[in-house]
Amino acid sequence: MISINIETPYIQPPRLPLWEWVEQNIVLSLRQPVARGSYGYYRTDMVPYARGIFDALEDPSLTRVTVVKGAQLGLTLLGYCWVCYCISQDPDPVLIVMPNADIARSKSQQNMMPLIEDSPTVAAQLTTDPDDFKKSEYILRRCAVNWIGANSPANLASRASRYLLLDETEKYPVNVKDEAGAVWLALERAKTFEDFMKVLETSTPVAEHGHISQSYLEGDRRQYNVPCARCGKPFVIDFKRDFKFNTKVKSKRVDEIARDAFIECPSCNKKLNDDDKERMVDDGKWVAEAKTIDPKHATFKLPSWYAKWVTIAQVVQNFLQSKDDPSRLQNFVNSTCGDWWREPPKKEISLAAIRDRQTKHVYAQGVVPTSDDCVLLGTTDIQQSHLVFHVYALTLRAHYLIDNGYLAVIDDIDEQLMQRSYIDDAGRELFVTKVLLDTGYDTMKAYEYALRHPYIMPIKGEKGSKTRQTKPVAPSRIESFPNGKLFGGKRSLTLFHIHPHFFKDQLSSAINSSGEVGIFFHKGIDSEFMKQMTGEVLKETKPDKYGKTELYWEVVRRPQDDFDCGQYSFAARHLAQNTLMKLDRMTTKRRELDLQEKAGNDTPSTEETPEAQAAGIGIMDDLSVDPESVSLT
Ligand SMILES: [Zn+2]
Repeated sequence: MISINIETPYIQPPRLPLWEWVEQNIVLSLRQPVARGSYGYYRTDMVPYARGIFDALEDPSLTRVTVVKGAQLGLTLLGYCWVCYCISQDPDPVLIVMPNADIARSKSQQNMMPLIEDSPTVAAQLTTDPDDFKKSEYILRRCAVNWIGANSPANLASRASRYLLLDETEKYPVNVKDEAGAVWLALERAKTFEDFMKVLETSTPVAEHGHISQSYLEGDRRQYNVPCARCGKPFVIDFKRDFKFNTKVKSKRVDEIARDAFIECPSCNKKLNDDDKERMVDDGKWVAEAKTIDPKHATFKLPSWYAKWVTIAQVVQNFLQSKDDPSRLQNFVNSTCGDWWREPPKKEISLAAIRDRQTKHVYAQGVVPTSDDCVLLGTTDIQQSHLVFHVYALTLRAHYLIDNGYLAVIDDIDEQLMQRSYIDDAGRELFVTKVLLDTGYDTMKAYEYALRHPYIMPIKGEKGSKTRQTKPVAPSRIESFPNGKLFGGKRSLTLFHIHPHFFKDQLSSAINSSGEVGIFFHKGIDSEFMKQMTGEVLKETKPDKYGKTELYWEVVRRPQDDFDCGQYSFAARHLAQNTLMKLDRMTTKRRELDLQEKAGNDTPSTEETPEAQAAGIGIMDDLSVDPESVSLT
């Protein structure tokens, strides 16, 4: 018990909610890039939805707050206000990460530094030495704030910080070596503070597999529910369902259609206008839609139309101007709807589509129909009585099936397939340099063969609609046969696990001419080949409890070995990406030399570099993957 002296009572000032503290202490001055009319003390009545996010940032039971947002909502400023609160009310190191160092410096100088200097409570934290207050680092009385670019992993790894502000995470550079990249590195910095750490990550989403979208889905998925101005029933305003406009009158201009647009309440079907929307947003409430996997993680999603200054007409006009151009439509979905882009449903492989590709470029079986430098790769599938094989000539831009058929026994790979020569359009003789061998059927025999022949790349096609494999190809090290017997003599194999649908999707895109690379078939393919190529079809899973469905490939006809050999050729392409880029540079160089030669210059012949041999060396480089650096999740 603490005894209190009644004559000189100690009065603890009542602790304000974070958002009220911000309203009483943060000053927006003319130096800051904010909307006209919002100067003076920061007010949440312009952005009522911000209060719920401030509450989450203040909640001691939460360590991580994710905000998926559309543009123009004023939520970037919310992050800066939160940092001001942290440094003056509960000081500890702060790390602010921007997509790159230039953005970090300019945001610091234009937004944060004036915000601190113009807000007296926060400015009180500045030291008397002006050198302590620099664009990329503020050394304050009780803590430090560091600004860094996500393109500098070394900086990310060097600082422990209790508070993290990660802004526009979808624009962070993708680190090829480390999938988790900058966000993960930053989160690691905060972990020393355990339950006291606080992370705010915000971004406009891009794709569903992007960091911010996945982070949102992992949390409790709060959406802003507003009560209908007519019937009072709360709902989340949805563009597709609730925005109404009439595009049937052909003579009407886009702005005229947009001017007459309105929101329709999904319960009472009454019309709602901009004034209604404004009042509804004032009375809105965040409602969690899911049970979070991590109870310390709150996630928010907010489309642009919840901003009071964004009108219904602006949203509709923006949509009408974007709808016919996929890239502008994606931008509308990301920036206005604050939603990630979903690829339109992928197409199946039809006989007509294969025939169509076959007529795009007609060439005989066994011929490499290009003079571009290319690499030849084989794909094989072992069956009970025989092996199915395909041979592809790959360039950076094209994918040619140049040969296919059957081999009687596995030894025929070495004795026949590897002995075949193929002539390209420049008259050069080319050989297969690597063979992907499916080990699914007779694994013992396949491993044994691969151990004896270094050009064999053993692969395993993964199956099913659900997968935990995050990489298209995941290598693992194998040291024993399926019966447990060790290979012996320190020998090991790298087994490449092939994602269950990644390359099937690529094959389908290439056949339906919607992918980056076109596939071509020699004119000798028969009806059996066609039948097998269409042996798997796309199916959709039943909706999960969030209504989400997934597409997967299902076998409808067996055998479908040609389909598998086809999809494996895209796995081969994936692994040979560096080689293909090298070959492309070689082709360009050779063409330039040819032109110079034609122009009469005395240049050395290109014959000195046997391209086929170079290609063979190149692909060896590519495939020297260290399996231990890649985990199979
Ligand atoms: Zn209503």
